[in-house]
Amino acid sequence: MSTVIFDFDSTLISCESLEEILKFKMINRPESQKQITDITAQGMEGRISFGESVRRRLELVEPTLVDVTEFGRKALQYATPGMGSLIKDLLKSGIAVHIVSGALREAILPAGTALDIPKDRIHGVQLIWNGEGRFSGVDPNDPFSISKVEGLRRLTGSWQKPRVAVGDGMTDYAVYEQGLVEHFIAFTQHVRRRAVIEKGTPEARNVDELKEILETWL
Ligand SMILES: [Mg+2]
Repeated sequence: MSTVIFDFDSTLISCESLEEILKFKMINRPESQKQITDITAQGMEGRISFGESVRRRLELVEPTLVDVTEFGRKALQYATPGMGSLIKDLLKSGIAVHIVSGALREAILPAGTALDIPKDRIHGVQLIWNGEGRFSGVDPNDPFSISKVEGLRRLTGSWQKPRVAVGDGMTDYAVYEQGLVEHFIAFTQHVRRRAVIEKGTPEARNVDELKEILETWL
């Protein structure tokens, strides 16, 4: 049984979930919106780490558990057409499917479970909520809050080969670069990132192309 690891934002769905959640909270706070944009840019440029970028934006906005799960319920509206049936076909063939995301785990869970992916195969950033469902920090023991590579390091060893990662970002490519999977497919239907394309790994511009490439390896 092989393993396919899907990124969530701009791969399984067409948008970036954290941006959508924060944007909604920022409607009446233009100054904070600017700070968020600055922090996001610093993260993209590598001036601060992924973990710091997530933590600083969350501390500024302090979303509630309701905000995050609310997005989670809507997330399927943004689903990439055809991805659901591709995943169902993979599952039918006995292939293990995981979601590995830098998004908040609660924002991914409803869409992931609707796609029949078991909860223990849905990996994202785990937040700590207080008793009233208010944000009280990023779980310091969660390796996914540092990076996908750190999160996967202690997991992929027991996953069946070949292991294939699919995603649009450099954090997805890093999983392949660090040898945690055998193959990587750049999925560029929503965003085509130059840094990723320049790595020269196979590129799928849509779900049909993704299916074709997967079939050659699985
Ligand atoms: Mg992505």
